[in-house]
Amino acid sequence: MRVFPKAQCPSAHVSALGVYAVPNLLLIYHGTSDSGGGNTNLHLLPNAKFAEQIEHMARSNYPVLSWRASGSTSNVAVNQIGITFDDGYRSDLANARLLGSYGYDALFFIATEYIGQPSYMNAAEIRELSALGMAIGSHSHHHTLLAPMSTQQIRQELSQSKRVLEEILQQPVTDFSFPGGSYDRRVVDIGRELGYQRFFSSDWGVNGRRQATSAVYRRSSVLNNWSISQFDALLQRRRYFARQVMFKTKEWAKRTMGDDRYVRLRQSFLNIGR
Ligand SMILES: [Zn+2]
Repeated sequence: MRVFPKAQCPSAHVSALGVYAVPNLLLIYHGTSDSGGGNTNLHLLPNAKFAEQIEHMARSNYPVLSWRASGSTSNVAVNQIGITFDDGYRSDLANARLLGSYGYDALFFIATEYIGQPSYMNAAEIRELSALGMAIGSHSHHHTLLAPMSTQQIRQELSQSKRVLEEILQQPVTDFSFPGGSYDRRVVDIGRELGYQRFFSSDWGVNGRRQATSAVYRRSSVLNNWSISQFDALLQRRRYFARQVMFKTKEWAKRTMGDDRYVRLRQSFLNIGR
């Protein structure tokens, strides 16, 4: 069992739900670089900004929960924060070392077709990430939207990426995050059949009983244009209901327009790369 530094010890009301649980606020990071992605890729943070955020969490004693300690339970721990990374960028390794220096770990989702491509980790680096005490999940093989796919294509995406990662890590891979946040009932059902136990969306919001029951968890993206006080507002769940309304409005637009058209519209507005 992981020994928590005093500041990160789950509080009494949390232990009633179990220490081994999914944090109720999950952050999504992608890659980081010296100067970040600017307006063209809001998901790419400057290295210094990522380091500042992690230092801020540590200094403020925010309760960051360990994925390693969580095992594969689907319970949700109230008032805990969990860190995730999508895609499998090479910068993950340096960021994992930085997290480790604070006693933190993260759950890294890898799109397996990217393995070994420029800017992405190769197989040896993924093994190194695991050896650093980080948890690893699948982010599909081709990193394409799953909801518009046939059931056969969905099965292929989920099974191929699982097989590739399990071959690299020599251990079961049971966590999955949806590329582009796109999923439906079929994706989750097929995932379960294939042996995945927990699913991670990009649906904004915190997790509660409903997410624990379905094992499909909400996560909130961290963007490179946030100030440290905007980051802190998310950690403190400030303006939670206003943000939730904004997210629900976007979801309504997605349902009305269809996933594909919504993503194209959003990208033309925000000019976000992957
Ligand atoms: Zn992704």
